[in-house]
Amino acid sequence: MQATDNQLLLVACDFDRTLIDTNSDLVLFDKLSYGQPLRQQFTTLRQEGLGWTQIMQTQLADLAKQEGYSKADVLACMHDVKMDPVLVSALQELRSSQGPSLQLIILSDANTIFIDEILKANGLSGGIFDEIYTNPARWMTKDAVHVEPYQPLSSPHYCQRKCTANMCKSNILKRARQELGLSDNAGDVRTIYVGDGSNDLCPSLSLSPSDLVLARDGYQLQKLIAKAKNDPEEQSEKVTAQVKTWTTQRELGEMLRQLPTGL
Ligand SMILES: [Mg+2]
Ligand SMILES: [Zn+2]
Repeated sequence: MQATDNQLLLVACDFDRTLIDTNSDLVLFDKLSYGQPLRQQFTTLRQEGLGWTQIMQTQLADLAKQEGYSKADVLACMHDVKMDPVLVSALQELRSSQGPSLQLIILSDANTIFIDEILKANGLSGGIFDEIYTNPARWMTKDAVHVEPYQPLSSPHYCQRKCTANMCKSNILKRARQELGLSDNAGDVRTIYVGDGSNDLCPSLSLSPSDLVLARDGYQLQKLIAKAKNDPEEQSEKVTAQVKTWTTQRELGEMLRQLPTGL
């Protein structure tokens, strides 16, 4: 679609397996020798019905009790997550070329510390993103990372789709539009939603036909969109926005580069 004059672009990106090619929550448990024994407990905790943020709270607290644990190790692991250079420069170019007509945000179920450290290590700190919506994290005594849920239990999001209690990214998109001054009377706003996971479906369903979803090929979001589209009984809610797929972060970067002239 051709970009129109005075059109505002809201580019909303998931983080894990979208902007980076891994799950930042699992990096410490995969990379640190003393973290690896804790890795198998993820499945058990999930089977016990714990939400992802609760699992992270438990696992990060346990990790900090392991022999040899240090904040330096945590930071080194995060700084070692390398983003694709084409994607990094596409995001930097978008930011510098589009100025105030572009709003660039992240919506993620990871946490503030991991995302900030990974972005910083890849040259994407300092105002590239207008807002990052994710679970707040902080350093505790003994350098444990503590993650709080994004959605406080006291104020549920009431999403009617299948979003987890902790996060509905449609609600976040709505909040972002308000906070960035892109609500109904802001004129012509086109939303580009970039993601891979099942929790990226709800915001994709909330978009209109002039918007665009960039879904990672072969991952849950793309599969769910295709399944609904091909549903013979027409019972599933369908994405009405335009959908394009990408496979590698390099391909995603190349697509984002085309946004200002039309994609
Ligand atoms: Mg993801
Ligand atoms: Zn939802």
